[in-house]
Amino acid sequence: MSKTDLKNLTLPALEHFLQGQGKERFRATQIFKWIYQHDARTFEEMTNISKDLRAELAATAFISALVPEAVEKGSDGTCKYLFNLGDGHAVESVLIPIEGRNTLCISSQVGCAMACGFCLTGTFKLTRNLTTAEIVNQIMAVRQDVREGGEEIRNIVMMGMGEPMHNLDNVIPAIQIMIDGNGLQLSNRRVTVSTCGLVPEMERLGREIPNVNLAVSLNATTDELRNRIMPVNRKYPLKELLRACREFPLPGRRKVTFEYVMLGGINDSLEDAKRLLRLISDIPNKVNLIPFNEHEGCDFKAPTQAAIDTFHSYLIDRHVTVITRDSRGSDISAACGQLKGRLQK
Ligand code: SAH
Repeated sequence: MSKTDLKNLTLPALEHFLQGQGKERFRATQIFKWIYQHDARTFEEMTNISKDLRAELAATAFISALVPEAVEKGSDGTCKYLFNLGDGHAVESVLIPIEGRNTLCISSQVGCAMACGFCLTGTFKLTRNLTTAEIVNQIMAVRQDVREGGEEIRNIVMMGMGEPMHNLDNVIPAIQIMIDGNGLQLSNRRVTVSTCGLVPEMERLGREIPNVNLAVSLNATTDELRNRIMPVNRKYPLKELLRACREFPLPGRRKVTFEYVMLGGINDSLEDAKRLLRLISDIPNKVNLIPFNEHEGCDFKAPTQAAIDTFHSYLIDRHVTVITRDSRGSDISAACGQLKGRLQK
């Protein structure tokens, strides 16, 4: 029988696992805290649990971890972590320190099946889904590093490699562990799931974890262009995608983040800005403009500064909350759409 990696289990799933072995339920909370709050890697460390139970657990379960294989620091403070998954594959996570608020961008898949025309990760196709353990272990490995500097990770964005909505079976438990008060203790308002627009999965996420933040990579304002640069649009066109955004259960005064990769001469005109505003105006929104980060083998070009300024001002003048992302980490290929899960030699 193969051993169970306890980091694949949410707290209720761990309770179930222990009950299946005839153990008391409250043990699950103790073990969960050891794992997520004390970073325990072995059962030996769990001193409030009897020696016998520790030995029994060690026979049926284990606690995985990821150790960064390489860490690259960019000139702007951005840190890219490369994690070897032990099966020949690797993923990256990017730590973005913004005014003392550390944001960690994590991956959900090795490669990606969505094949967006401008994204480097997409050119590698989907190799496999990350497990729940591999998703939370990215956070725990970087957290250890951050804590050595006396800081904490405040925000998690699922904007790294992969399409999180394409791996919900593992992403949902991972988020449950992130926001569990006995787990990683992150506030659900500090967890953001970003999607290219898989509509049924957006609905499922909204049903199962109604309080996380939603980011949608819109990137185009007509179906014609979106079909061309994001194949997912042929299945779920703009109208359906925007309906799913409108219906997404965001609590209180929270907003959907619309990400918009600006491709020079393709989607960066004033007309595009006007159409964008019309599309999202009946949804509580904020906009993230991401100037395209060029990469080898891709013909799209970055927008001019003038195009960025015009687009940005048009929206700001109409009271839209807009952030134009600087190309953080681009000197270490850690910027949006530049992650490929390999060492850059
Ligand atoms: N699959 C999810 C999560 C990835 S997020 C999603 O699509 O939302 C990565 C973000 O970077 C997306 O908004 C994507 O549109 C953007 N992106 C991809 N390639 C890029 C590039 N070369 N330059 C700038 N942004 C890019």
